[in-house]
This record gives sequence, C-alpha cells and structure tokens, in this order.
Amino acid sequence: MAVDLVPHWHRGSAWAGAAGGRVADVFDPATGAVARQVPLASTDEVDEVVAAAVAAASEWRSSSLTKRAKTMFAFRELIVRHTDDIAALITVEHGKVLDDARGEVARGLEVVEFACGIPHLLKGSHSESVSTGTDSHSVRQPVGVAAGITPFNFPAMVPLWMFPIAIACGNAFVLKPSERDPSASVRLAELFTEAGLPDGVLSVLHGDREAVDALLTHPSVGAVSFVGSTPIARHVFETAASAGKRVQALGGAKNHMVVLADADLDAAADGAVSAGYGSAGERCMAISVVVAADAIADELVAKIAERTRTLRVGAGTEAGSDLGPLITAAHRDRVAGYVDAGVAAGAELVVDGRDPEVAGGAAGGGFFLGPCLFDRVDPSMSIYTDEIFGPVLCVVRTSSLADAVSLINANPYGNGVALFTRDGAAARWFEAEVEVGMVGINVPIPGPMAFYSFGGWGESLFGDTHVHGPEGVNFYTRGKVVTTRWGVPAELGAAPSSLDLHFPTNR
Ligand code: NAD
Repeated sequence: MAVDLVPHWHRGSAWAGAAGGRVADVFDPATGAVARQVPLASTDEVDEVVAAAVAAASEWRSSSLTKRAKTMFAFRELIVRHTDDIAALITVEHGKVLDDARGEVARGLEVVEFACGIPHLLKGSHSESVSTGTDSHSVRQPVGVAAGITPFNFPAMVPLWMFPIAIACGNAFVLKPSERDPSASVRLAELFTEAGLPDGVLSVLHGDREAVDALLTHPSVGAVSFVGSTPIARHVFETAASAGKRVQALGGAKNHMVVLADADLDAAADGAVSAGYGSAGERCMAISVVVAADAIADELVAKIAERTRTLRVGAGTEAGSDLGPLITAAHRDRVAGYVDAGVAAGAELVVDGRDPEVAGGAAGGGFFLGPCLFDRVDPSMSIYTDEIFGPVLCVVRTSSLADAVSLINANPYGNGVALFTRDGAAARWFEAEVEVGMVGINVPIPGPMAFYSFGGWGESLFGDTHVHGPEGVNFYTRGKVVTTRWGVPAELGAAPSSLDLHFPTNR
C-alpha cells in the first residue's frame, strides 16, 4: 500500500524535494507498520533552502520588534488551538502516550511565549559620558541564518527550544528534524506561516548525515544548534566550529537521583518511577540511576518495584497506557540487550519487562518493552556506564552523600541530577559540589522553564551556551558596542580637536 510522503517546508509551503531523491521509512512504533515516508535532502537541496533563508533573513532582520512579537503571539494562539493534532502526529510516529505528547507541546509552547517578549529581550544598554562628550550603547543583532538539528525523542519541543527564539531575534532558521518522526515540525512550520511569518524565514528540511554535514559547513549558515546523542553532538561541534560557526551541541545523558536516608521515600519512589519510565525512558532528563543510601535501600527498592509493577504498557493512543513502544525495532532490541547484559553481569533484575503484556493488544509488530528495574548495580557494568535510552532503571547503593557525589562527578555525562532529602544542609552542599548542569532538590526532572536556559555539563554539551532563556537569545545574536561623540552644537562654538597618537584612554 502506498504511504504519504512527509514534505519539506520551503518558501512557505510544502515541497516534495527534487524528483528521484532518497527517502526513508517512518514507522508507527505501536504496530511496526510503515506510516509514512520522508525525503532525505541532498546537498543541492540544502543549498537551495539555505539560499531562500539568506534572502528571507535580510528582510526579516529589518522588521520591527512589534511585528515580530505580534507574529509570535499569533503563532502561540495557533499552537494552543492545534495542540491535539500536533500531539496525534507525535504519538503515531514517536509512540509516546497522547498525554505525554500534549505535555511536550505545552513545554515547547512556553518557549514561544518567552519569545513573545522579544522587544524586551533585545533591549541594549546605554551609558552617557563614558569619556568626555562621548556616549556608548550596545545592541544585539541577528547572526543571519541559523540551523537546528534535532533528535527523535521530542519532535515538537526540541525544535521549539530553538526556532522561535532565533526567529524572534531576526534570523532565518533551517530546521533538520529527526527523520524518524518528521511530521510535527512540518505542522509547526505550517502554523507559523499561517501566523504571518514571511516565506523562507523558517524552513524544514528532512534528511540524514548528508543534509546535516552540508548545513554544518555551509558558508551562509552562521550558527548551529544541535540536540541528540553524544557521538553526533561531538561530530557536529567539531565540524561546525572548524567551519567558523558558533555551535551549541547538546548530547546524551545518564541522570542520577540520590535518595538519602531521611527522604520521603514514597515521594522518592514516585519520582523515580515517573522520571525513569515516562516516555519509555526516551528522555534526555530521564532518571536512569537511583543512588540509594544503604540504610533505606531495601525499603526504597520495594516501593519502586511495587509501583513499577502497576505500569501499563500499550499503544500511545490507548487510554490508560503509561508507556508506549520504543522508537524502532533495532532500538528495542538494543535496550533488551542491555537488560540481558545486566543479568549476565550479576545485577539483580527485580522487575523484568522483557516480555510485556501490551494493553489493547497492540503487540504483534509493535516495538514494546516493559519497565525493567535492577538492584545492586555495580558502576563497572554496561547498564551503568552506557546511556540506554529505554525503560531501564538501575539502583546503585551508597554509604554516604560524599560517595554519591563522587560517583556522579566521575560520570562523563552531566545533564540532570536529583537529590531527595529533608536535610537543607545536605541539599545546599550537594547543589554546590555536583558537576551537573540541571539540579533538582526533591524534583526528579529539573528541566528549566523557558525563561531559564537548558543544558548540561561534560559530555552532555559541546560549546558553552545552553538553549532557550537568556543564553538562547545571546546564542542567536551578536553583540555590538557603539561609541559616539557628537561634540558641541555648532551654535555653541567649535569643539576643540587635536592630534593625539596615544592609545585612547580616559585621561
Ligand atoms: P541522534 O544523535 O541519533 O540524532 C540526532 C540528529 O542527528 C537527528 O536529526 C539525526 O538525523 C542526526 N544524525 C544522526 N546521525 C548523524 C550523523 N552520523 N551525522 C550527522 N547527523 C546525524 O539522536 P536521537 O537518537 O535522535 O536522539 C536521542 C539522543 O538525543 C539521546 O542520546 C538523548 O540523550 C539525546 N537528547 C539530548 C537532549 C539534551 O538536552 N541534552 C535532549 C533530547 C535528546
């Protein structure tokens, strides 16, 4: 049976790309069937889309801040009105449950709302009389064309971390979304066009490595935002930085949650299960390791196991499903392979989700894996060292807070971390010492709001600017400082002037 082709978005409308190009299958992970196909852009197509973006950027940067803000407000209204259909597109291609998909749209929407404040966000500063009769002011100007390359796990939210701010700042933006779930991006671009965004300011170009590498080295692309796995983040950073671009490349994660003996263990168990298995563990902020104080470890593991056994695995469209399928058959098999390896290495598999019961009978060809819980995991095991990106939660036992922090700081990733405790002094010390970018105290998924910036440390981020919030505005703009001297008005007499070959100082 023929399936639909997901189009690119080019010059303000759907575009199938050049005839005879490569395509990839997009699966419905709940059934395993091919839902759609997506074109994979060639280098020539990248050139064509970037050329349109360059032309659009030169006009868009001169549009008034009020016009840009009004366009953002209109876009915001359209996303609110179409949240359900964007969520449905996400669920059919990604697999996550509908409520979770709506939640991702809501978190992306918050970035659009932040970008509605662009007239305020782009205010510069002014200093009168920095030297005699001389004033200075600063402005931030757009970089021109920015490119964004995004992962499969948040097909709406991660693109929304990037393009609303870049565009509000006066740039054109070329988005290369994940080829595994490409439809939500196209829908967002369509809505932005409907909101009044001029053609060419936002393009969506599907593709794989060929398109990405062409964007990373394109002379007309000034800035590259990337979110995805660590090896590709490193490649993106090195390639684009050596081509002279500014780059922010967010990578993978292995997030720990420390539970001290004085913690509210019910809240900690709820947090671990929600943050460990939500979206089937395919979140960069998912908790994958619980570091439990020895004194309460048995009780905590029992509470986590009890809750884990209540979770229902099923299609994302099935009412009552807690977690949907994984993104591809290969990824499901890879995650199950880690569970096998954990058992072989001697970790205690407390809950085994390898042969899950699937709500609604959507099994068959679907890429399902149930939640798995390991206790007594040793940090040398692959289930601890590697990012699994699936519904696998590992418990490592610890004898002290200091040991827990040493373990976390020795981990190459540094995306998110949480501490559960009732001890303020312990929390304060933890917050100061832990080498991780996003920290939660009794909060299992401490993803910053849109008006703060999101990003990790270590191998979770290459580059030095986090996404959205004030750092997002800085990333998509370049600073300029203007120093001005007008002398005195002619009617008050000529301003004295003389030769002075000294380096200018404030003498
Ligand atoms: P991925 O790295 O495989 O793909 C990300 C993007 O890179 C996609 O658009 C893909 O087409 C492109 N890509 C893939 N291989 C490439 C190559 N060889 N050369 C150039 N481009 C290539 O990541 P994924 O599997 O889509 O997403 C999951 C990963 O993303 C996980 O590691 C997760 O932790 C990470 N992630 C991180 C954050 C964060 O904020 N740090 C957020 C979400 C996801």
